[in-house]
Amino acid sequence: MPDTFKAILVSRDEDKKQSVTITELTEADLMEGDVTVAVEATTVNYKDGLAITGKAPVVRRWPLVPGIDFAGTVLSSDHVDWRKGDRVILNGWGVGETHYGAYAERARVKGDWLVPLPEGMSAHDAMAVGTAGYTAMLSVMALERHGIVPQRGPVIVTGAAGGVGSVAVAILSKLGYHVIASTGRPSQETYLRDLGAAEIIARDELTGPAKPLAKERWAGGVDAVGSTTLANVLSMTAYGGAIAACGLAGGMDLPSSVAPFILRGVSLLGIDSVMAPKDVRLEAWRRIGRDLDLTKLKALSTTIGFDGIIAAATDIVDGKIRGRVVVDM
Ligand code: NDP
Repeated sequence: MPDTFKAILVSRDEDKKQSVTITELTEADLMEGDVTVAVEATTVNYKDGLAITGKAPVVRRWPLVPGIDFAGTVLSSDHVDWRKGDRVILNGWGVGETHYGAYAERARVKGDWLVPLPEGMSAHDAMAVGTAGYTAMLSVMALERHGIVPQRGPVIVTGAAGGVGSVAVAILSKLGYHVIASTGRPSQETYLRDLGAAEIIARDELTGPAKPLAKERWAGGVDAVGSTTLANVLSMTAYGGAIAACGLAGGMDLPSSVAPFILRGVSLLGIDSVMAPKDVRLEAWRRIGRDLDLTKLKALSTTIGFDGIIAAATDIVDGKIRGRVVVDM
C-alpha cells in the first residue's frame, strides 16, 4: 500500500473561520487507536453535512477528518477481537467529531468501537444502511420494546424521504406496519410508496403550532425532524402510543405540552446511536440483515466517489438528498 492516502480535512483559522480541503495523510498523522482499517465505503449523513458546512458545532477537534461511519478491512490490529483481513463497520463513538473519521482511505480507531460486517453484506451495502439506517433500526427496536406492534395501528415516519426516514419506512413496512410517510417533497411520493409507505402526508400538516391534543392518528412513529413536527406528532398519537425521537432536521426545540404524556399515556423514546452499547449495535445490525430488503436498500441509495463528498454534504443540509448516499472509496 502507498505511504500516503487521500483525506478530507476541516480546519479553522485564528478567526475561527472554517475551511475544508482534500489532502494527503500518512499513517503517522492518524490518531491513537489499536486497529487500522482500510476504508472501503463510507456515507454522507446529515451530521456529516453539518460538520463539513460548519452549520452546527459537530467538529470538536481541529483539524479533523470528518465522517461518522465506515466499512472496511482491518489492515493491522493490537486488539484481541480483530485480525488483519477482518471485515468491520464503525458508527459513532465520536469518530468524525472528536476523532479522525471516515473521509480518508485509512482510519485508526479503538477496536472496541468496531462491529463485524454482517454475513452476506458488502461494505457498500453496510454504508447504504449507514448510521442513518442503523438509527432507523434502533428506533424500530425501541417501538417494539414499547409494545407498538403492527396490530396497534398505523405508524408515522417524518422526514420520510431522508436517510433515516427512508430506511424506517422500508423496515416498518417489511415488518407489516401500516406506514404513514410525512414528506415535504410531494415529488417523492412514488419513491416512498415503492419503499412500502401506505399513505403519504404533507410535511405542512405537522409544522404549524401544535395543539396540546389533536385527533388520534397513529399508534407510534419515528421522528427524524424534531421541533413543531415532533410536537404535532405527539399530539396526534393514540392512547398508550410511543414516538421514537431520533433527529432534529427541523430544529432542536420541542414546543409541546405534557398533555400527550399525562392525558394519553404517550411515551417519547429517545434514540442515540453514537454511544449505544455494543450488544445493542450487534442486535441492530443483525436485525438490519433480517428486516431490511436489500433490493429496497439499493433503491434508496445513490453512489458517489470520494470527490463528491463535499458537494453531497452541502446538499444534505439543504434537504436535497433523497435516501442514502454511499461513498465508494
Ligand atoms: P436527511 O437530511 O437525509 O433527512 C432529513 C429529512 O428531514 C429530509 O430529507 C426532509 O425529509 C426532512 N426535513 C429536512 N429539513 C426539514 C425541515 N426544516 N422541516 C421539516 N422536515 C425537514 O438526514 P438523515 O436522515 O441522515 O438524518 C435525519 C436526522 O436524524 C438528522 O437530524 C440527524 O442529525 C439525525 N440523526 C440522529 C442520530 C441519532 O443518533 N439520534 C443518528 C443519525 C441521524 P422530506 O424531504 O421527506 O420532508
